[in-house]
Amino acid sequence: MNATDTHCPYCALQCGMRLHPVADAVPGAPPVEVGARPSFPVNEGALCGKGRTAAAVLARSARLTAPLIRPRRGGELVETSWERALDRVADGLRETAARHGPAANGVFGGGGLTNEKAYLLGKFARAVLRTPNIDYNGRFCMSAAATAHRAAFGLDRGLPFPLADIATTGCVILAGGNPAETMPPALRYFTRMRENGGRLIVVDPRRTRTADQADLHLRPVPGTDLALALGLLHIVIAEGLVDREFIDTRTTGFQQARAAAMAHWPERVEEITGVPVPQLRQAARAFAAAPAGMVLTARGSEQHSKGTDTVRAWINLCLATGKAGRPGSGYGCLTGQGNGQGGREHGQKADQLPGYRSLTDPRARARVAEVWGVDPRSLPGPGLSAYEMLDGAGTADGIRALLVMGSNPVVSAPRAAHITERLGALDFLAVSDVVLSETAALADVVLPCAQWAEETGTLTNLEGRVILREAALAPPEGVRTDLYILRELAARLGVRRGFSEEPAEVFEELGRASAGGPADYAGIDYDRIRAEQGVFWPCPDAAHPGTPRLFLDRFATPDGRARFAGVSHRPPAEPTDADYPLHLTTGRVTAQYQSGAQTRRVAELNTAAPGPFVELHPRLARQLEVEEGEVLAVVSRRGRAVAPARITPGIRSDTVFMPFHWAGPGRANSLTNPALDPQSKMPEFKVCAVRLEKTTEA
Ligand code: SF4
Repeated sequence: MNATDTHCPYCALQCGMRLHPVADAVPGAPPVEVGARPSFPVNEGALCGKGRTAAAVLARSARLTAPLIRPRRGGELVETSWERALDRVADGLRETAARHGPAANGVFGGGGLTNEKAYLLGKFARAVLRTPNIDYNGRFCMSAAATAHRAAFGLDRGLPFPLADIATTGCVILAGGNPAETMPPALRYFTRMRENGGRLIVVDPRRTRTADQADLHLRPVPGTDLALALGLLHIVIAEGLVDREFIDTRTTGFQQARAAAMAHWPERVEEITGVPVPQLRQAARAFAAAPAGMVLTARGSEQHSKGTDTVRAWINLCLATGKAGRPGSGYGCLTGQGNGQGGREHGQKADQLPGYRSLTDPRARARVAEVWGVDPRSLPGPGLSAYEMLDGAGTADGIRALLVMGSNPVVSAPRAAHITERLGALDFLAVSDVVLSETAALADVVLPCAQWAEETGTLTNLEGRVILREAALAPPEGVRTDLYILRELAARLGVRRGFSEEPAEVFEELGRASAGGPADYAGIDYDRIRAEQGVFWPCPDAAHPGTPRLFLDRFATPDGRARFAGVSHRPPAEPTDADYPLHLTTGRVTAQYQSGAQTRRVAELNTAAPGPFVELHPRLARQLEVEEGEVLAVVSRRGRAVAPARITPGIRSDTVFMPFHWAGPGRANSLTNPALDPQSKMPEFKVCAVRLEKTTEA
């Protein structure tokens, strides 16, 4: 076996890596080891600890290798054959549709699925199950940024420029992102920018490892980024720092944005956000004065019940200062999940068809129906968003059966104890996963699937670069690919054509379905990706070079102009009060990934990040007489989570922080608030009201 150039199984950076076969691997141990791949431009050979240890999740000992079935409700999961497991899933879905109608079947996908899987899962839901109710965990990730991006620019691609452009800009406002912790190899571009004389302004309630490197760190009260962005725009306008020519020639709607911003004068914004006026002025002036600049947001600014408006406010700041649609300038979202970008383009979202087409557009429906060989009138309309689908699961009006592929909502959904209860109330639950995740453990049937290095498929990284994860080894005996699973289920449900288990064939069909749409992949194929180290969409034909930089001539709106938005501050859905006097914000640590289903099984990562913790300020610790390491219960209106105290001056004294990667008593999402952003349906993960209690619970 030769070495294989491929990509990391985890985050949206999709670092290139080289897998080397291990000739004398002991049975059950990883059969490959991870090495550097310096030729891949995004990470230039660098990997974080998760990437370096990624081979460990391939070890047979770490995963499922036979389907599991629960012979009776309340009984144990037992091993079974693939035939029996697939028959049972097909029966469960068929019986649910027969009893309650097709919409009673739900499908829940994931932002880590390859483009091919996301595409085929959407086709399975709409063309086989005929249910509108398909959504995915990306709804919990960057949906607010995606919604804002489309509204402002007519097109959503996380970064409308290559990551390396960060090194060339003059000022970056990084709002609610911590790449030093979440995607360390990306930090090089921020460092280079600063070495070139650029300035980094970090907006975060915590002094993170990224904030440590900032020229200016603004520490707003959680849930007030919208007011902060409005305040910066106010200063830019009041001090005459706008780019009038850009506003006049490339945008519309400035007057509404101006009116909203002028109602957020600096002293008012200081009162709301806690950020002193001099810092607001410093940030606004530095950004406006830079010849080129970027605002980059991540989950900290986006995961709010006003997430879309918050991102629109950041985009307003870019537009007012002429920092969009120009080289080295723009707004971008640092997507989190491995295929957070591609996962939202190919039809596993409740409101979209492949090619990032709208499900309510008759021409888009006709185009996709033609590729699928179905009547466009048979395609269902938009369905329930991720939280809405899970929240109503097992109720008279909700879904009654659910197929989950590549997601672990028991840990990652807000108000997680309630969601666990709802999943338990379903008539039927099937889960396809690599390991027995907390969600899979509730299922009636568990289908063990192949994973990253065992199957080929494309992903689209945070830059919009379509990359190819190459198979380096065969899956263990007893494991099947998700494409096989979908093909077999479709066949059992009466659809025997159009569900290939060959990734290249699915990708070719995906390209045809996307042709002419906003995210056009028609000119991309596997050989091209290999030869060019990835291809940026849109790429409508084989002769097209791909599009690393969007919007340089015009934005993707009908008139080619970007849209300002008249947005105003509003408080979080759940303000603090006497019973719940502290803000809780949640986030990530370097050594764990998302719900932890994979990384919690890697010994080296567990040593680095063994469990949850509660970060609090020394002043708060003194007030509550809490010692470092003392076990605390964090209590919200939805539940409690127990974890040791970690005392640090790097956090606001009115705020506590918990990472969300763990299940059990320390599950941070037991606390979080599912209040939804009305535009994107993003839950308010990033702020809710809590109190701390001392406890003797372990
Ligand atoms: Fe993998 Fe992301 Fe780490 Fe790169 S930064 S090695 S893609 S987890």
